[in-house]
Amino acid sequence: MAGTPVAVALGSNLGDRVAHLQAGLAGLAPLLDDLRVSTFHDTAPVGSVAAPTADQPRYLNAVAVGTTRLSAPDLLTHLLRIEAEQGRERPYVWAPRTLDLDLILFGQARIDRPDLTVPHPRFRERDFVLAPLAELAPDWIDPVTGQTVADLLAALG
Ligand code: AMP
Repeated sequence: MAGTPVAVALGSNLGDRVAHLQAGLAGLAPLLDDLRVSTFHDTAPVGSVAAPTADQPRYLNAVAVGTTRLSAPDLLTHLLRIEAEQGRERPYVWAPRTLDLDLILFGQARIDRPDLTVPHPRFRERDFVLAPLAELAPDWIDPVTGQTVADLLAALG
């Protein structure tokens, strides 16, 4: 049986961003079959009132897709481990991220647990996720809205 198709977003805005993304991809490689990776996108930081980003450096973002036989919670555990392995140089708690990994889509699953929401709750408003994802999987249907990734990207304008 083939695994479940998954999409993982990668982001880095600290230090050698390319090296951090490449380390993240190296961590994903044993977890995902048929791994495909988008181009790397240089993007402005997006903040919130709780976490202002005015003085944060720009991000480098990418998306990886593949298939996995892991469950979504087990895959998340691996993502957090890979982040932690790359994050050891984190100088203080709220510092910019060496590597952020988000589970965006897990087949057509809808998961709502305290520690895991899939599809990722904010991916529809994030150009820095949708643009690289659309390079790889424009026809993937968001199980919540019924729209394709290409539709969601176009809706951002
Ligand atoms: P952040 O550091 O802002 O990326 O948040 C990481 C936390 O978000 C993790 O501890 C996860 O438990 C939680 N989380 C919930 N849903 C997701 C998801 N789809 N992908 C990654 N992390 C998630």
